[in-house]
Amino acid sequence: MTDKAHSLDKIVSLCKRRGFIFQSSEIYGGFGAVYDYGPLGIELKNNISQLWWRDMTQLHENIVGLDSGILMHPKIWEASGHIEEFHDPLVDCKQCKARFRADELITDFESADWSAIQCPTCGTTGNLTEPRQFNLMFKTHMGPVESEGDIAYLRPETAQGIYVNYLLVQGAMRKKVPFGIAQIGKAFRNEIVARNFIFRTREFEQMEMQYFVKPGTDDDEMKAWKEERFNFYTVGLGINKDKLRFHQHGHGELAHYAKEAWDIEYEFPFGWSEVEGIHNRTDFDLKRHQEFSGKNMQYSDQISNEKYFPYIIETSAGLNRMLLIVLADAYWEDSENNRTVLKLHPKLAPVKAVVCPLVKKDGLPELARNVTDELKKHYKVIYDQQGSIGKRYYRQDEAGTPFGITVDHQSLEDNTVTLRNRDTQNQDRVPIDSLVEKINDEINNWS
Ligand code: ATP
Repeated sequence: MTDKAHSLDKIVSLCKRRGFIFQSSEIYGGFGAVYDYGPLGIELKNNISQLWWRDMTQLHENIVGLDSGILMHPKIWEASGHIEEFHDPLVDCKQCKARFRADELITDFESADWSAIQCPTCGTTGNLTEPRQFNLMFKTHMGPVESEGDIAYLRPETAQGIYVNYLLVQGAMRKKVPFGIAQIGKAFRNEIVARNFIFRTREFEQMEMQYFVKPGTDDDEMKAWKEERFNFYTVGLGINKDKLRFHQHGHGELAHYAKEAWDIEYEFPFGWSEVEGIHNRTDFDLKRHQEFSGKNMQYSDQISNEKYFPYIIETSAGLNRMLLIVLADAYWEDSENNRTVLKLHPKLAPVKAVVCPLVKKDGLPELARNVTDELKKHYKVIYDQQGSIGKRYYRQDEAGTPFGITVDHQSLEDNTVTLRNRDTQNQDRVPIDSLVEKINDEINNWS
């Protein structure tokens, strides 16, 4: 196993050990690339998505939120092109039964001679089938009787829920172009090869923002959103910028609806891979929805009296992939101190502080409980009196908890506690009365 693959394994194992992420249905042997988020995982996921939501809908006055259904009218997927176009080419190995995406094995997969290609899993040649198309949408049925007419799909992207609602949102909120609609929600894709932990799963969450702009201004808006989204990773999430880059889609790569597309990529332990796509989707979707629904999807400009189909700049991020880069970026083996640390920014950390009585007697647990009760009005904190103080801290270092507070005998005399910094392990004595203020300062000035 390579070092890099090894480091993904270490993250997977820390996630299980500390209650971030579990394999779905583990007691039944797991279930095809679906993951469950444990107590710390859901806190971290919420912190990331709330940061995104705030960035989009609070800091931009012209972006509003939406929460549309996962199940939608099946015609939406005809209009969007997903029924026709949302396919991956697939090859099977007749020898070992492994399955691959043809385009991931060979770029020029359509003209390749598959009988001469070696199976990457079992190494035999001549056993790979010709590529077959495979639709990635999950099908289900609405209502009690399963018939062709009742087919519905689990949405493969949240974007279409925004397009079909855009005029309702615009009218209700009296928005003028340019304006945006943001949405966070589940999406489902029956991925052929689901791998790399939570990177590629069959059920995942997207954070998408669709920005409706006047045609002709789309190139400038695209440029501005590219920069803004990149900054969200470096400044908002504090990700190391050397591990981030842009990748522009070449002509062969562009989706059927796109005029221009860029991916933000991160250098994961398994290599550079996409975490977010920024696409100029033109007026493709709105025109198609007008064609398929028969409803007018044009925006009407009250000032200039013009009617037109806005162009759409889409920023489409995967919440689970974003969480994986946060974990990968924060993972640190502190060999000097023989500990593993998640160096999460305090604003992302699932738990902000652990409060520990030094010993389980002499009135220290009672005072530590009082400190916990006060702090929990402000942050997610936990109380821990189990095991040696060193062990308690190391458990929290792995969980990414930035502050450790210890109540000791001196606390009973002068109402002070020690405040430990996770990364430096430095400890300061702080009056209990000013703990909240001190922690706020530390969070605001964290580097
Ligand atoms: P990929 O090429 O990796 O399959 P994509 O280009 O199909 O991704 P988009 O359709 O642009 O992805 O989706 C936007 C975002 O949704 C992606 O950048 C990614 O973060 C997330 N995403 C897409 N598919 C998955 C998946 N199977 N599991 C987890 N996240 C996903």
